[in-house]
Amino acid sequence: MTIAILPPRLANQIAAGEVVERPASVVKELVENSIDAGATNIIIDIEQGGHKRIRISDNGQGITKDELTLALSRHATSKIKDLDDLESIASLGFRGEALASISSVSRLTLTSKPAAQDNAWQAMATGRDMQVDIQPAAHPDGTTIDVEDLFFNTPARRKFLRTHKTEFSHIDEVVRRIALSKLDVSFALNHNGKSIRQYRRATSDRQVEKRLASICSQAFVDHSIAIDFQHQGLHLYGWVASPGFTRSQNDLCYSYVNGRMMRDKLINHAIRQAYGESLAHDAYPAFVLFLNLDFDQVDVNVHPAKHEVRFHQARLVHDFITSAIAQSLHQQHLDDGDDSSI
Ligand code: ADP
Ligand code: MG
Repeated sequence: MTIAILPPRLANQIAAGEVVERPASVVKELVENSIDAGATNIIIDIEQGGHKRIRISDNGQGITKDELTLALSRHATSKIKDLDDLESIASLGFRGEALASISSVSRLTLTSKPAAQDNAWQAMATGRDMQVDIQPAAHPDGTTIDVEDLFFNTPARRKFLRTHKTEFSHIDEVVRRIALSKLDVSFALNHNGKSIRQYRRATSDRQVEKRLASICSQAFVDHSIAIDFQHQGLHLYGWVASPGFTRSQNDLCYSYVNGRMMRDKLINHAIRQAYGESLAHDAYPAFVLFLNLDFDQVDVNVHPAKHEVRFHQARLVHDFITSAIAQSLHQQHLDDGDDSSI
């Protein structure tokens, strides 16, 4: 038996298996990086459903020339330093794996200019050692990451890519989810050179409602109420639709924990329980809910793609959500009753 350390590209490709499932996962990782960098404007250009190109440009803080190589290396992150930080994560990223993983399975170029640096620089990792080449480039303040030919060198993965249309619809959904959670950031999503979505920065109530309607439909806005509850360090707010506005699919079930999009069983269960008998067993409720709690009350380091979290006080969280939503639905029911009696 011969034991050998894997070459860097191969090691990164193996890691990529966990986080880079399809073009939409690349979009999620890169847009989350832009948000972590404080961007207020994010432009997403897709070609051929992301098979050909995924390009994300932001006006965030940028990466200095000296740090470009590190940004592309595995286990290199500016977001956590020690175990204490890992126990209370405030940023969306922290694993330091996305750029290294994505660049191992595509042709990735990273171009960036921090405001304090005079010129932009571009970096690309090549060869089996992922040697980073750096060249001068032209770019405004911020960062662009251009991912071409995803999975060109991993045929097994490439085979799992679906049609351009299907892959684009997954991307659209990821952008929708993120755009709901960052109302003060503007997003543009383009496909094959055509503008598909424009979510403008929303700060006033009116703009927020408009953005909510453009993502979740006007009907959702018309049939839902805004909620806001606090209890023992837990804060739950957002919008829940009345039981009369249910769906046959879970396409309007949006939940976030500390700003991170989630598909969490505990949260979904708690919400369902709040609807109780008023929801047919084959129907889904519609909601956009944000749960915020102390960063040290939740473990986000459970799943590589961070779809799941673990709450330290799961029971408390569950029961708080159920009672808050049950109370809102009850109130809504009473209000609706008032309407019909006029
Ligand atoms: P993580 O997000 O877990 O730290 P990534 O591989 O996604 O790991 O990114 C590595 C590092 O590169 C980040 O910690 C950050 O410092 C830098 N970075 C990535 N994308 C951007 C961006 N759009 N703007 C500024 N810095 C970025
Ligand atoms: Mg990241």
